Amino acid sequence: MTKFKERIFHLDLRIQVMTPKALSDLADHLVKMKFTTLVIEWEATFPFKKHPVLANRFVYTRKEVVEFLDYCKSIGLKTLAIQACFGHVEYILQHDRYAHLREDERDICQICPLKINEALPLIKDLFTELLEMHNSEYCYIGCDETYILGSCPACREKAAKSSKSQLYVDYLVEVVKLAKSFGKRPVIPADMLLQYPEAARELPNDTVLVDWNYGWEPGSKFGPPEPLFALGFEFWGSLSLRSGPDNYYLHTFEKHLKNYHDFIPYAKEKGYSSVVLTSFSTSGIYGFEWDAFYETVMMHPVRRVYPLNGFNILMAAFVKACDSNEPLDYQQFIVDYAIRRFAISESEAKLFKDSLLADASPVYKPKVEFYQPPAKVLASVSQAVNAMNAIIPHKNRREFGHFRLMFAIRETYLKFKLIEETTEVDSFGDAERIRAIAGLEEVLAEEKVHAKTYKAYMRGYLHPAEIKTENSWRIRKPLLLIERLSRER
Ligand SMILES: [Zn+2]
Repeated sequence: MTKFKERIFHLDLRIQVMTPKALSDLADHLVKMKFTTLVIEWEATFPFKKHPVLANRFVYTRKEVVEFLDYCKSIGLKTLAIQACFGHVEYILQHDRYAHLREDERDICQICPLKINEALPLIKDLFTELLEMHNSEYCYIGCDETYILGSCPACREKAAKSSKSQLYVDYLVEVVKLAKSFGKRPVIPADMLLQYPEAARELPNDTVLVDWNYGWEPGSKFGPPEPLFALGFEFWGSLSLRSGPDNYYLHTFEKHLKNYHDFIPYAKEKGYSSVVLTSFSTSGIYGFEWDAFYETVMMHPVRRVYPLNGFNILMAAFVKACDSNEPLDYQQFIVDYAIRRFAISESEAKLFKDSLLADASPVYKPKVEFYQPPAKVLASVSQAVNAMNAIIPHKNRREFGHFRLMFAIRETYLKFKLIEETTEVDSFGDAERIRAIAGLEEVLAEEKVHAKTYKAYMRGYLHPAEIKTENSWRIRKPLLLIERLSRER
């Protein structure tokens, strides 16, 4: 059997910050599932000494971090921090202290690569504090999705004279050099290099490249790995259990399972040495609340997803796919998992499988490719909700409850979309407006019940203020609509 050298789990703490107890429970579970390394995306929850302004309200204390990392070590789970150093640095660049590093005044997602000399001291400080506490032999450099590469006038000029690839690689070479000065082997996401490979030969080829694929035809989104293989780079493969377009209203279980079915055999065949399972709580893209001069007042993460504790089944499916020589038969896997995990009959497990694979279409009307009529999708999802309510699990009831809650939230959302559609047509008039208000009141009443269950399920897992935020963000759109329609002044 082809085996991966490292089985790695990527924990995202950008939002949905877990309690210390939840973190150590996760570590135990990962060890049980034979993961060897935990990648932690601390972002603003790491208590940086030299850059304390980066911390958000959910920042861990140093004692909590030390205790958790020590605990991981004691159970044989290596730890590796991922630190964004190029793109996805809004949480850094929103602060005046670091504003001079921005590629763009308004879109503050990225550091300008020509400001490498100004950026390096910051990156060095962050690396120093992180690397001394995590025991992996690697340094994971976050430099994916630098969407606005080459957009400031100076970068545009350099890209025109050489290439976007050169712009990217010149910056990265310095960061890689820094990582190596700590005695660590650099690891970087491969998306940008796959898209812009021209200057890749200037990057030291002992840098590990992570080919992340969350459910598309291998090689189709960024580019094939072969040109970089030819330069001698080692690859890891990376998959996901939560990724776009997943949010509270949509759980694309089948897409993720199919991703394991397709991409794990592909990674083995290509000789990718290790494999990573990511679990993003959000997109890494933000909506901004600005003031004059586009000063950031607040950042709102785009896409909030059901928390990680609802997705044990996908972690187990990933592990099964890694351990098997055959592509994952995910339909059978779900049935077997449900029988074993919930102590239910085979016919109930089949019903559960059909429910889990209910229509996972998005219902966003302005984009044809992301739209199915909500009534059609609702019929499938309501059937799933009813089936899940009828099944009585005899074991792991809380885990089963997560599925019920996820699908109930989706059902309520689809009811909202149905109502919303009636307000977006030529025939929308006063009678429809009154009807829509009544419907929205029902939606909000249903959501109130979901919020109560959610609070009970997440107690001790997420912090109370996080639970409150997550519950309130789910109902923002129906609340705003009912305010408008009821015309209450
Ligand atoms: Zn620039």
